[in-house]
Amino acid sequence: MKKTILTGLRPTGNLHLGHLFGAGQNYVKMQYDYDFFLEIADVQALTDNFDNPEKVRKNTYEIAKDLLAIGIEPENVHLFIQSQIPEIAELTVFFSNLVTVSRLQRNPTIKTEIAQKKELFGNEGESITYGFLGYPVSQAADITAFEGELVPVGDDQVPLIEQCREIVRKFNSIYGDTLVEPEAVLSETTRVKGLDGNEKMGKSLGNAVFLVDDDETIKKKIMGALTDTNKIKKDDPANPDVCMVYYYHKLVNKDDEVKKICSECKKGARGCVGCKKELIEAMKEFLQPIKERRAYYDEHPEEVDKVLKDGTEAAKKKAEETMKKVRKAMKIDYYE
Ligand code: ATP
Ligand code: MG
Repeated sequence: MKKTILTGLRPTGNLHLGHLFGAGQNYVKMQYDYDFFLEIADVQALTDNFDNPEKVRKNTYEIAKDLLAIGIEPENVHLFIQSQIPEIAELTVFFSNLVTVSRLQRNPTIKTEIAQKKELFGNEGESITYGFLGYPVSQAADITAFEGELVPVGDDQVPLIEQCREIVRKFNSIYGDTLVEPEAVLSETTRVKGLDGNEKMGKSLGNAVFLVDDDETIKKKIMGALTDTNKIKKDDPANPDVCMVYYYHKLVNKDDEVKKICSECKKGARGCVGCKKELIEAMKEFLQPIKERRAYYDEHPEEVDKVLKDGTEAAKKKAEETMKKVRKAMKIDYYE
């Protein structure tokens, strides 16, 4: 019996390097050996984008195409749309009795995201909705509705998986052993930093290199990336460890190049402008095969539709089975 994977992404924008190195490469690697449900979490995206449904709908297709472009194979992965599985919403309601408001407010991921919203939108960012505060509960339902055992994620998601495990334990202790407790699976690069040096590259943070960025955009972004602020002149020695340009060289450039860049930088034998230009070229080369596959799906939208439709159908079947068990355990299986 294959183990089950459930993970997801919010359709709030295109995939960026953070998704790829933090989680996506693991999805691609793991797709052959597991029963894999990959969720486009549009209901979760609506928690803080409820006033912009066009954005969420458009990005549902964008994310689907990006995932296919990084190498997700529809024969091996059920790629599905969260809103089309009402069983998840049903399970969310039952789970919401099993978690306190103060526990949600203390969740480190929620705390960080509220702080980020405040930074981006001022005091307005602080006034969060019931739906947003509750999204870890709905995420717990996402995972358990598919009996997900493994959840490949970036490390910003770890507190949410922990929250899910607590909810599952509570459910099982009250209603009997019914649901599966999931485990997070982290990549080697657990968190990719932003162009601005922020600890996290994020779709909603304006500091990301997207996989679909065109050459001109890549150039502009890399030329504006944070470097060692103590380096003033071209031949000043600098510290590569605080430089985002070096940081991305490490992600996308060849090992021997990276070594050379590091030692030249430390010696003051490398100017930042030249270093950025080399990164632009390395980045373009790295993204090229992804962009080619992406172009194919742009030209074949009907294939993308079919992948989503089939994936959603398979996901619904699985969630229906789980919910039968849940309703029985909760003694609300009246007409089943
Ligand atoms: P948003 O800002 O809208 O939440 P996001 O960029 O955080 O967008 P998500 O859809 O929330 O993206 O996350 C999808 C997956 O990608 C999660 O597993 C998350 O941990 C991972 N991920 C996102 N950003 C990074 C990053 N900078 N480094 C590593 N992993 C990341
Ligand atoms: Mg996120």
